[in-house]
Amino acid sequence: MVFATDLDRTIIYSKRFIEKYTPAVMPVEVHLGKEIAYMTKKAVENLKRISKLIDIIPVTTRNIGEYHRVALFKEIHPRYCIMNNGATIYVDGNEDEEWTKQVRKKIGSMNVGYNDIITQFVKKAKMEHVKVYRLSDDFLWVIVVYEELFDFSVLEQFKEYAKERGWNVVATGKKVYLIPCFINKWNALQHICNKYEVDTVIAAGDSLLDYEMVINAAMGIVPRHGELAGFLNGRGIITQKSGIEAGEEILEIVASSISA
Ligand SMILES: [Mg+2]
Repeated sequence: MVFATDLDRTIIYSKRFIEKYTPAVMPVEVHLGKEIAYMTKKAVENLKRISKLIDIIPVTTRNIGEYHRVALFKEIHPRYCIMNNGATIYVDGNEDEEWTKQVRKKIGSMNVGYNDIITQFVKKAKMEHVKVYRLSDDFLWVIVVYEELFDFSVLEQFKEYAKERGWNVVATGKKVYLIPCFINKWNALQHICNKYEVDTVIAAGDSLLDYEMVINAAMGIVPRHGELAGFLNGRGIITQKSGIEAGEEILEIVASSISA
């Protein structure tokens, strides 16, 4: 059994998702001297407890560098982790090169490549409403927009155009991701499950990028504030609480269900 979990807004939270700072909240990511992400102390305790019983698999859209900033995982050392939304798998601290090779091969045979897709996006979107865009680890475009100004209806049209060409367009908050369809969290997780004979997956996630993982898991958990909560149709657990406390609740649910 494994616990596959998204990180941001599922078990770790940036400042804007914390209602009040109490001694119960602690930083779990510090970058350039700045605290970036937090968990409650109770959540950290439960995560440690879970990690002693089953494998925890962080499954994140963060790139390799961003993942390694999470200090918590220097303590817990998950055996497996999935980064770049599924394009990169690490096992025992090393890249699963067989997987990366498969992903790169598929990228190589795409008709509409990375340059083409971003060119089309730039043509269709109002670029003055885009803060910055970057290619993350060569695997996905991360576009940061001005949330209040950006016209998300343009994105709906672009989504259709992209989908026909093998690209997934996902907007979560101020970020828009352009990702080849075959690069997804569930494919990567299945690769791990098949290769290492994992039978049962408990999964947690908040965004549409986590949809398949949560739906297909034996037990799927979504924080109440997550957009995914609106897409579950009864196929999963939605937490009672929101924000950083939902993160705590998710880990409580997992801890109690595996020690029961
Ligand atoms: Mg998330």
